[in-house]
Amino acid sequence: MTHHLDTDIAILGGGIAGLWLLRRLSELGYSTLLLENATLGGGQSIKSQGIIHGGTKYALSGNLTHASECIAGMPKRWQACLQGEGEIDLSCARILSPHHYMWSSAGLGSKLTTFFASKALRGRVDQLKPKNYPAFFQHPAFRGSLYQLNEFVLDVPSVVSSLVQGLEDRTLSIDWEKSRIEHDTDGKISAILLEHQGEQTMIRARRYLFTAGAGTADLLQRWGVEGPAMQLRPLHMAMVRVPGAQPLFAHCIGTSTVPRLTITSHPDQQGNWIWYIGGEPAESGVKREPSEQIARCQQELTQLMPWIDFTSAEWGTLRVDRAEPRQSNLLRPDAAYCKALHNALINWPTKLALAPNLSDEVLRQLQLQGIAPQIPQPAATSLPRPPVGKPFWEGVLP
Ligand code: FAD
Repeated sequence: MTHHLDTDIAILGGGIAGLWLLRRLSELGYSTLLLENATLGGGQSIKSQGIIHGGTKYALSGNLTHASECIAGMPKRWQACLQGEGEIDLSCARILSPHHYMWSSAGLGSKLTTFFASKALRGRVDQLKPKNYPAFFQHPAFRGSLYQLNEFVLDVPSVVSSLVQGLEDRTLSIDWEKSRIEHDTDGKISAILLEHQGEQTMIRARRYLFTAGAGTADLLQRWGVEGPAMQLRPLHMAMVRVPGAQPLFAHCIGTSTVPRLTITSHPDQQGNWIWYIGGEPAESGVKREPSEQIARCQQELTQLMPWIDFTSAEWGTLRVDRAEPRQSNLLRPDAAYCKALHNALINWPTKLALAPNLSDEVLRQLQLQGIAPQIPQPAATSLPRPPVGKPFWEGVLP
C-alpha cells in the first residue's frame, strides 16, 4: 500500500538552511515536510564555530567586498530573533558570547588601529580599554590590542533545537537506500518515494528545496539533472579542553588576511569550556595528521598565551568540509545562494550567519513563481523522525 503526503514545500536536508526555512515557511502558512538522512544540524551547522558575523573578518583584506556588505545586516536580524521579536522566535537558543573579539599580537597594534579606525569599519569595531577586557584578556601577561566586534557567538545545538521545537511532526528520516526521486519526462520532480518497514510513502510537493549541504551534489545526481556545481573546502579543526580555562571568543590577527587563529568556546556537560580552533591552521592543516595538527595548534597557543598551562589539557581534531556553490579558484562565495531548477530551488547558505538572507531569497523565488500557501498540512505520520545532532566534540574528546 502507498500512503500519500501532499505538501506545498518539501525540504531536503535539515541543517541551519533547511531548518530556518522549515520554521519561516511554516509560520507563513505553507505546509512543509523536511527530509533528513542523518541528524538535524549534524552536518556543518553543529560543527561550525557559531559566529554570527557582521563581515569584519572579510574586511581584513583591506577592501570591503560584497560579502562583507551583504553579511553586515545579519547580526541585527539574528538579534531580533533571539529576543523573540524577529521573523522567527529563537528566544530559547543560547548565546555563548554577546561579542566576538579581535586581538592583535604585540607589534601589529598600530597598523591595525589605523585600519579599524577607517571609515569603512566605523560602528562595527571598537577598541577596548584594558579595564573593559573580558576575563581571559585581563591576565597581566597579555600583550597586544583588543577590539570588540559587533558579532556574537551562538550555541548551535540550542539554535537547532529551537528551530525544530513544535515542528517535529514535519520532519522525517529518509534512507536513500530505500527511497528515490521520481521525475516527469520534462525533468520536474513528480514525487519522493520513501520506504519504511515495507510500506511506501509518496511525498508530492509544489516546490522542493535542496538544503543538504555537502549532500546536495548526490541528491542532484539521484534526480538525474545537471544542477549547479558544488565545491568543498576541507578544514581540519582542533579542539582543546583546558581544566579551569576561561572562555575565549576571538580572532587572533597576524599578517595574513586569514586570521592566525579563530577561537570559540563551548561548554561541555561538566561545565568545562572546550576551545574550538579554526582560522589559518584549520585551512593549512588539511594534510596534517591529527597529532601534527595538535602539535601545531599547541605551539601557536603556547606562543600567544604563555601564561596558560596546557600540561593536563585534552586535545582532539575534527575534519569537516564546507559545502558551497562552485567559484573560480575556490574563492569564498559572496552571499547565500539560491537557484531555481525545474520545480526545485537549490540552496547553500555559505555561512550559518546567512540563513536569514537565504530565506529571503527563497521567499522571493516562491513569490516570483506564484507559490503561495495552498495545501493543508498533511496529518502527522508514524514514520521515524531525525534526532538533533550531538555537539561536535562528542566522540572526539574523552
Ligand atoms: P549542513 O549544516 O551541512 O546541513 C545539511 C543537512 O543535510 C545535514 O543535516 C545532512 O545530514 C543533510 N543531508 C545530507 N545529505 C542528505 C540527503 N541526501 N538527504 C537528506 N538530508 C541530507 N558559518 C558562520 O556563519 N559562522 C561560523 O562561525 C562558521 N564556522 C564554521 C566552522 C566550520 C568548521 C565549518 C565547516 C563551517 C562554518 N561555517 C560558519 C559555515 C556554516 O557552518 C555553513 O555554511 C552552514 O552550517 C551550512 O548549513 P547547511 O544547512 O547548508 O548545511
